[in-house]
Amino acid sequence: METITVNEAFCPQNHACPVIRVCPTGAIEQHNAFSAPVINEEKCTGCGVCTNYCQTFSKN
Ligand code: SF4
Repeated sequence: METITVNEAFCPQNHACPVIRVCPTGAIEQHNAFSAPVINEEKCTGCGVCTNYCQTFSKN
């Protein structure tokens, strides 16, 4: 299965992550609007949808 890397260097970490809405399994989590998103590996299917929306997310 494809896994997803969150590259924090690409995330300005100053807004609520809009990509959370597009994940079909609710696998993207964010502690607060000033933190980078994190992937819940137990929920992520590796579909790659998030990588189409933001460069912070990339396939391994
Ligand atoms: S790869 Fe798919 S399931 Fe995993 S975080 Fe991205 S959009 Fe969600």
